[in-house]
Amino acid sequence: MCLFKKPKYVVIIGPQNSGKGTYSKEICKKYNIPHISTGDILRENINKGTELGKKAREYMNNGVLVPDELIFGLLKDRLSQKDAKNGALFDGFPRSLSQSKYLVDMINVSAVVDCQITDEVSVARMKNRRICNKCGKVFTVKPGEKTPKCDCGGKLVVREDDNEETLKVRLKGFHEQTQPVIDFFKTYKNKKGKNIYVSVDASKTIPEVNAEIDKKLSEIL
Ligand code: AMP
Repeated sequence: MCLFKKPKYVVIIGPQNSGKGTYSKEICKKYNIPHISTGDILRENINKGTELGKKAREYMNNGVLVPDELIFGLLKDRLSQKDAKNGALFDGFPRSLSQSKYLVDMINVSAVVDCQITDEVSVARMKNRRICNKCGKVFTVKPGEKTPKCDCGGKLVVREDDNEETLKVRLKGFHEQTQPVIDFFKTYKNKKGKNIYVSVDASKTIPEVNAEIDKKLSEIL
């Protein structure tokens, strides 16, 4: 049973490889909300060969943002599903000012968690990342250690857009387009006049970051 009556809409934000997916799991579990990752939904569509996937693929492989009209449609669809009635955690959305304004017009955002890492940490982490080609689960491989296996039987592969060149374009995009999102939420007040922005140092260990997020979210949710 969910102990939280009002829907909780949480945004998790941070550069590529800041660990958003990992921290999201804990937040979703605690607040009983689904994890909505626009990147995952787009990749699912590419794998299934849908019209949306076909349109999005080129943008994604070039490391640039998929046009808003495709993202807004996808998001509306996802939010209308039953499991999103308690709220949702948005991962990878909003990524631009136009997307931020769209979101605050559509729902009452409860919290924004900004996971901060430097570009150097992002590049170093990318080199160790693999993704299951069947279920999409993300793994970290350690140099010199055996590559782990996914429970679902899928194969661990390097993500199509995980290469240093594309990552640099994506990090540049993050700084140019997503930094304004952070600035927007730093001063944004929700409908009750409350600040909703918190930041964490995401270069620490996973348990440390999870604990810091939990503490900061408990104070505002
Ligand atoms: P991610 O898995 O969040 O790193 O996203 C991978 C790619 O999907 C991005 O580089 C974009 O091309 C696309 N994408 C994901 N979310 C969005 C979004 N909110 N707006 C536009 N493009 C997106």
